[in-house]
Amino acid sequence: MSGYLDARPRVGYFYTGKSGNHMLAEKIKHITVNEYQSRPVVVQESESVYDAICTMFLEDVGTLFVVDKQKTLVGVLSRKDLLRASLGKQALESIPVSIIMTRMPNITVCKQDDLIIEVANKLIEKQIDGLPIVVEVEYGSRFEVVGRITKSNITALLVDLANDDVI
Ligand code: ADP
Repeated sequence: MSGYLDARPRVGYFYTGKSGNHMLAEKIKHITVNEYQSRPVVVQESESVYDAICTMFLEDVGTLFVVDKQKTLVGVLSRKDLLRASLGKQALESIPVSIIMTRMPNITVCKQDDLIIEVANKLIEKQIDGLPIVVEVEYGSRFEVVGRITKSNITALLVDLANDDVI
């Protein structure tokens, strides 16, 4: 009955007034990104679209993060970004991903201690599949990618909630 009942000295047990839904919402609002993250898959900005497509297949991910030589996050590549680039007649080996990626400062990011529900809201609002998890280096002037959180991670959370596997 945890959550439904509380106890007070001289009063004894009493009903908290919280519904099952209320308690589930409270639980969800405390889950942070680091509890459900995946490892990031990154490519260099100088790599070709062809190589990025190969990486996407080999690593079995839907979003790639693009970094420069200093490991700074500079871009994002989705499946459709790569598909769109493949529709033209150009040789994919000769197009660098930096030409077709979504670039900074237009990338939506999150931090490891952000709430998962905030990430879910951003995914819906921006209509995207995932976010890079970043750490700020050099006082916020650049970000390094330390993880990835996607709709799949949030689906895993939903399953854990249904199985009552969330602490
Ligand atoms: P797809 O394009 O395969 O459906 P998305 O919905 O994730 O995949 O991506 C839609 C567009 O948004 C793409 O152009 C992609 O580069 C861009 N995008 C993806 N993730 C982000 C992000 N975290 N921040 C900004 N733009 C993003």
